[in-house]
Amino acid sequence: MNDRIRHIVILGGGSAGWLTAALLAAEHAPAHEGGLQVTLIESPQTPPIGVGEGTWPTMRDTLRRIGVSETGLVRECDAAFKQGSRFDGWVDGTPGDHYFHPFTLPQGYTEAPLVPAWLSHPAQVPFADLVCVQPHLCAQGRAPKQATTPEYAAVANYAYHFDAGKFGLFLRRHAVETLGVRHVVDHVVGVNSHDNGDIASLQTQGQGALAGDLFVDCSGLPSLLLGGHYGVPLRSQQHVLFNDAALAMQVPYPQADTPIASQTIATAQRHGWIWDIGLPTRRGVGHVYSSAHASDDEVERDLRAHVAATGGAPDLPVRKLSFTPGYRERFWHRNCVAIGLSSGFIEPLEASALALVELSAAMLNDEMPATRGAMDIVARRFNDSFGYRWSRIIEFLKLHYVLSRREGSAYWQDHRRPETVPERLREQLLLWRQRPPSRHDLFRAEEVFPSASYQYVLYGMGFRPDAPDGTRRVALAEADAHFREAARLTRRMLAALPAHRELVEHIRQHGLQRI
Ligand SMILES: Cc1cc2nc3c(=O)[nH]c(=O)nc-3n(C[C@H](O)[C@H](O)[C@H](O)COP(=O)(O)OP(=O)(O)OC[C@H]3O[C@@H](n4cnc5c(N)ncnc54)[C@H](O)[C@@H]3O)c2cc1C
Repeated sequence: MNDRIRHIVILGGGSAGWLTAALLAAEHAPAHEGGLQVTLIESPQTPPIGVGEGTWPTMRDTLRRIGVSETGLVRECDAAFKQGSRFDGWVDGTPGDHYFHPFTLPQGYTEAPLVPAWLSHPAQVPFADLVCVQPHLCAQGRAPKQATTPEYAAVANYAYHFDAGKFGLFLRRHAVETLGVRHVVDHVVGVNSHDNGDIASLQTQGQGALAGDLFVDCSGLPSLLLGGHYGVPLRSQQHVLFNDAALAMQVPYPQADTPIASQTIATAQRHGWIWDIGLPTRRGVGHVYSSAHASDDEVERDLRAHVAATGGAPDLPVRKLSFTPGYRERFWHRNCVAIGLSSGFIEPLEASALALVELSAAMLNDEMPATRGAMDIVARRFNDSFGYRWSRIIEFLKLHYVLSRREGSAYWQDHRRPETVPERLREQLLLWRQRPPSRHDLFRAEEVFPSASYQYVLYGMGFRPDAPDGTRRVALAEADAHFREAARLTRRMLAALPAHRELVEHIRQHGLQRI
């Protein structure tokens, strides 16, 4: 049990496999003596899922750690900048109904009672508009940085929208050519075990057995190792979040210079919602829905109507994806850890899947057990961490539905039924009637969504506290100073930041300064 861990075998070459391989290789130096050897095997007959275009700001740090350039990302992956998400039609579906969940924290977030001050503010503007520059930058089509801002540095916090297929190839090239990851293209047909139940090797169709010390299951939704070989069950969350299918399209722009949206736009529909993601060359648009509430045909009609109404052609090809919303009971079992879709998947509202891949790969990388003997301790902690994170993600996504006042379809009414709301979320909503979400609700070091995100969604969705406010006048004045500062920064940034498309085209032609 004290054998050294020398060779990591990753099964799967989608975004999860290549992100994990590149991070491990970058930080555990496979090219040097004593470093870990990293092998990634992917099937020539099962392509990666090819969706997953919205990310979180954490991606900047992950890519920097891996050692790729931001200019390369923009050029090779059709990447553009994402500054948050706009939710259209979620509150009640009346014309003009929208709110923003930006990536930037409210101005003065930890320093003054912003929420009571916003509630009593004479201007009666949306919460995010008063406390943050980013809704204004997005509304005016501005980029989050300038052409002279160095790679990965931000003027306003940002993540990316990119082409998922190109992203995998971009990482693969760097992982193989620069970081020394061994790439095997073969189909895995079986698993060979040690007597103790650990995986000894993967049996391939053409190249025999591929042995390793630790196996990372990045095989996508089939979860070949954790789910298939070890039988670790999926905990379905369909009773909480009903969506289990999506229809996806790639929508060309009407003109080459059409502005690129710098936020994901999530538009509520009768039986689900539509994502709209702007890349430099096209939009990625998809309708996520509950197959128990609507037929594919109905949903396709709604999707095509949305695309036509937003400048797209009416007859584009559509692709269906199905999934069971849920996550595995454990993520690390014996010498096998699942990362990516193999560990679970819930609808892409708030785009948390790649962020979870980054968090998983980072914990595996940082806590890499040196020996098999230490592995079970790390595995227990890993399982605890990610079980906690999945629960928080599910509550946060459900929050978007439970506060909606949309009528006219069973889908939205069913989402509000008390028995579909997780108990902890029900408790939180009770507390939030008395005080805003705070760090006391989310106290772990690396929470997936900070309390500010809960504030943006809660107040964007029209939630208001019950309790009379006892905040002192002097504190309200402090908050007011932060609102004025946010307005001042907004004016400055609007004057200084280029249009989003202008910046992207500049980077494609001239690049950014490397740091
Ligand atoms: C509709 C939809 C929208 C999404 N939107 C977002 C989003 O906006 N943001 C976000 O963060 N995430 C999103 N996701 C999730 C995102 O797509 C995934 O998290 C991400 O692409 C990682 O996928 P993966 O690498 O785990 O699996 P895959 O891309 O499916 O890769 C699986 C790999 O396993 C290999 N494989 C399988 N079987 C074998 C075998 N027998 N032998 C050898 N190799 C094998 C395949 O060849 C492939 O390389 C979305 C998902 C869906 C379904």
